[in-house]
Amino acid sequence: MEYAYFEGNIVNIDEAKISIKTNSIHYGTLVFEGIRAYYNENHNQLYILFSDAHYKRLLTNARAMFMYLNKTPEELTSITKGLLKKSEIKTDTYIRPFIYFKDLALTPKLKDFTPEVAIYTYNFGRYLDTSKGIHAKVSSWRRNSDNSIPSRWKVAGAYVNSALAKTEALMSGYDEAILLNEHGTLSEGSGENIFIIRGKKLITPSFSEGILEGITRSAIIKLAKNELFLEIEERTVSRSELYAADEVFLTGTAAEITPVVAIDNRPIKDGEIGNITKKLQNLYFHAVRGDIERYKHWLTPVYD
Ligand code: PMP
Repeated sequence: MEYAYFEGNIVNIDEAKISIKTNSIHYGTLVFEGIRAYYNENHNQLYILFSDAHYKRLLTNARAMFMYLNKTPEELTSITKGLLKKSEIKTDTYIRPFIYFKDLALTPKLKDFTPEVAIYTYNFGRYLDTSKGIHAKVSSWRRNSDNSIPSRWKVAGAYVNSALAKTEALMSGYDEAILLNEHGTLSEGSGENIFIIRGKKLITPSFSEGILEGITRSAIIKLAKNELFLEIEERTVSRSELYAADEVFLTGTAAEITPVVAIDNRPIKDGEIGNITKKLQNLYFHAVRGDIERYKHWLTPVYD
């Protein structure tokens, strides 16, 4: 049976329905998260990855949108555990929590409305090809600027920008889009943060480049620093530096660690997945499944 958390209760998915008049549908004023849970057969356990960080980001973004929800990250994690348990999920899964204005009034505003939270699970599988690597295109669309719709917020309306870039990339024969920001320097993928490797340096656009403050991004920085002793640079990156990189990869909850083997038809180095990318993938995939003791604090076990 499939369930959802809807209007304060865990209900059958068929009962989780909203009106076509719902305000947030019309103006894209819905904030959301994407969380993964990984099943470990040997442990007979389902682990939610970075639950606290995702719910903290959701509530921070909601506050910026004047959505004051009377819930803590701990309470939302506990609701999520309840939902996964009730659904008896014993496989990898994706969790989509979101906060929206449930009011039926047609005004694009954020005041005097009532926020509601809903959560459902989704069978994503692999989002992009993490084993072969992908071909990416630098998009002709620019990332939303922070002074129009901040990328930091993970708000539904901002994803029109992602949809335009992703569609252009797919229709041009590529797997994913890489967006430049309003200043013409590197920001991120349509749903991922981006990293390049040059020598022993791991380089990624800083938070002021019009990016989402990615939770996977921050996990990868920790793994690169602590496990591979790489030097980290968070800074402005020019488009041409992409082509000069030894390795490129994308990170995200859905995309995990996706190697990029060519950009704008230029192979990255020899066009094969790089060694550092492989090492980071290996560490990440073991950590998220609960197989590395020192990263177990990333995980929330679902079954007692
Ligand atoms: N950038 C964008 C635009 C995204 O949608 C996502 C996916 N949430 C990311 C980056 C990666 O963020 P995270 O690692 O927190 O999933």
